[in-house]
Amino acid sequence: MDTMKSVQITAIGQHLENRGVTIPDLGPQDILVRVKAAGICRSDVHYRSGLGTVGPLPHTPGHEVAGMIEKRGAEVRDLEIGQRVALHYLVTCGECAMCRTGREQFCPSGKMIGKDIAGGYAEFIRIPARNAVLLPNEVPFEHGAVLMCSTATVFHALRKSRLTPGESVAIVGVGGLGLSAVQLALAFGATTVFAIDIDETKLATAADYGAIPIHASESDPVREVISRTGKGVDVALELIGLSKTMRQSVEMLGVQGRAVLVGLASEPLVVDTYGSILGKEAEIIGCSDHLLAEARTVVEWTKQGRLDLSSVVTREIPLEAHAVNHSLDELERFSGIVRTVIKP
Ligand SMILES: [Zn+2]
Ligand SMILES: [Zn+2]
Repeated sequence: MDTMKSVQITAIGQHLENRGVTIPDLGPQDILVRVKAAGICRSDVHYRSGLGTVGPLPHTPGHEVAGMIEKRGAEVRDLEIGQRVALHYLVTCGECAMCRTGREQFCPSGKMIGKDIAGGYAEFIRIPARNAVLLPNEVPFEHGAVLMCSTATVFHALRKSRLTPGESVAIVGVGGLGLSAVQLALAFGATTVFAIDIDETKLATAADYGAIPIHASESDPVREVISRTGKGVDVALELIGLSKTMRQSVEMLGVQGRAVLVGLASEPLVVDTYGSILGKEAEIIGCSDHLLAEARTVVEWTKQGRLDLSSVVTREIPLEAHAVNHSLDELERFSGIVRTVIKP
């Protein structure tokens, strides 16, 4: 049996370890991908700490993966060895009512790579061929990897918001997700995009991408948005998940505005129901994950230059437990915009 290097969670709450594991066998519809880039995500910190649950231990994390096809199963026809691919992280059945109606993120047997099944902190990963998104040469592997998580989810959120050209948008929280959100909102045709945060650096980067920065600890962002628009925004994307920022996202909406909640929240949302919702026919919309088709679109948009991840992905490390743990420790302490990508 051939083995490969991997960096695994062997015990919850402990540092990850270097482990040699067997290179997985392929089913007829699977491909084996040589990992060229695996993004280290905030959720991986939660998987390590036990705040998020993972499959049986030892477990290989890594759900933001891009690489080259190394091998293909007997029935895989539409992909070739050596092709560059990014991997849609949700493996679904493709046959249930949810999968057949374009709602595959609710597939009852859906499994996520790097969470429920082995992920990309390894030299190779096995995945069904239909999860592969072809990666054009113009898109580097490390960008392809990161596109598969936060960017695709923000894209889904904007679709859920029904944003139409000419509308105004507020992005509440401009970390990694937020920077993609600013670019995508403009690409969707928003004429005005506000970036709201308390971090100068993030606000400055968002402004470079064309957003109007609003420093939330220097002024009340709701009042600021309403005074600058005169009527409130059409769409607010909440990317933080705190009850305060969720409430602000709803309060800054104009007539028939839509607030999409993306940030993982465990806190309740309390709003003035008439003043903020009924009286202006505002909507609060939930957003969970994204679809394979959306993952393909964000790759295409990156190729076309509508999306630029160069200031999001900023550091590369080897596939080595010490370096991975160091990055996870940093993510646990700060919420900077620095994205680290493992390059095995
Ligand atoms: Zn992620
Ligand atoms: Zn299904």
